[in-house]
Amino acid sequence: MKKITILGSTGSIGVRALKVAGSNPENFKIVALSAGKNKDLLLSQIEAFRPAAVAVSEESLAIEVKNCLPASNAPEVLFGVEGFVRIATLESVDTVVSAMTGAAGLVPTYEAIKAGKDIALANKETIVMAGPLVMAEAKKRGVSILPIDSEHSAILQSLKGHSREDLKRVILTASGGPFRDMPLDEMREVTAAQALRHPNWSMGPKITIDSATMMNKGLEVIEAKWLFGLEIAQIDILIHPQSILHSMVEYKDGSIIGQLGIPDMTIPISYALSYPRHVSNGLSPLDLEKVGNLSFERPDMKRFRCLGLALKAAAEGGSVPAVLNGANEVAVDAFLRGDIGFLDIPELIEKTMEAHNHHPVDAIEAVMEADRWARDTAVGIRNSEFGIRNSELRVKKSVRRSI
Ligand code: MG
Repeated sequence: MKKITILGSTGSIGVRALKVAGSNPENFKIVALSAGKNKDLLLSQIEAFRPAAVAVSEESLAIEVKNCLPASNAPEVLFGVEGFVRIATLESVDTVVSAMTGAAGLVPTYEAIKAGKDIALANKETIVMAGPLVMAEAKKRGVSILPIDSEHSAILQSLKGHSREDLKRVILTASGGPFRDMPLDEMREVTAAQALRHPNWSMGPKITIDSATMMNKGLEVIEAKWLFGLEIAQIDILIHPQSILHSMVEYKDGSIIGQLGIPDMTIPISYALSYPRHVSNGLSPLDLEKVGNLSFERPDMKRFRCLGLALKAAAEGGSVPAVLNGANEVAVDAFLRGDIGFLDIPELIEKTMEAHNHHPVDAIEAVMEADRWARDTAVGIRNSEFGIRNSELRVKKSVRRSI
């Protein structure tokens, strides 16, 4: 019986992870849950899974949750970073599903590793920001980090049973998102609602925008580098619009091993939880006849500037990946609020990276500091340099509306 904490249980990954745990009650016991803001969903999860503890982001929300719980047999209700850290490090827990969004997941995940918990990692930002520190700590504590990321789950499966010295390269596949073929001029005008409509995957808003800009694939290159001990030059990217072949490993003799499956995050979640076994998860099987064709193409780096920025950050290392990530979170948030345009996202990230003095990071505090610096700087640039552009965009939109 594996005892589990889920960080981010009300998000898209958390909900699916609970489904997997709920359909295998003989294998998994939920010890603790955490949510950002979604009180109602958290309450229904508490009722269904009876965790010993829960954590939420704010104290006021913790009080609201407490007030809704029965007087007896209620879970302990915690809040803030301390609360997340506490449920991630509880003595009885074996595995932490790290599925919070963005940089907020870093500290609780890192503390869970220090406490010797195995990690099922959906929060790729943790490893993008602090890859060398996270991997060193995991090695020291004998902790497994199993990816809840379809590409990395595919790579993990494709590496099994093969000799690492025979590896030639890894090929990450990408859907290319909703704007793969859209003319650049039109891309400039796309709205958050359009960008949130992913053609294949159903995911949270942050990662869906990252998929539309292909920043997600850039972050995944950095994630693959650290998870599998690869050089950046060994990682290639191919756009594969059907999202059926989830990634591949090429060996020296020309053999390419990959993993196929329907595009549903339940598969990498159940593999990370039941590793190295493949257990039933109730999904409908992949119907290759129905899919018909699988196609592949190189990504257009002019269209997907975020990808180039991520590769640059990966090559520079040190504080730069944390700066890339922090600036991206600010840019995505600004885009979702309608403050900047879609093509302003890479612009804002690039300007933040240009303003940064690259330095090595030897502790989590230094990573957090680089993250804070990037957010402050990106917000400053957003306000000073995108303010004017912003109002132009609004004028343009209102003109079009009146036509
Ligand atoms: Mg992925």
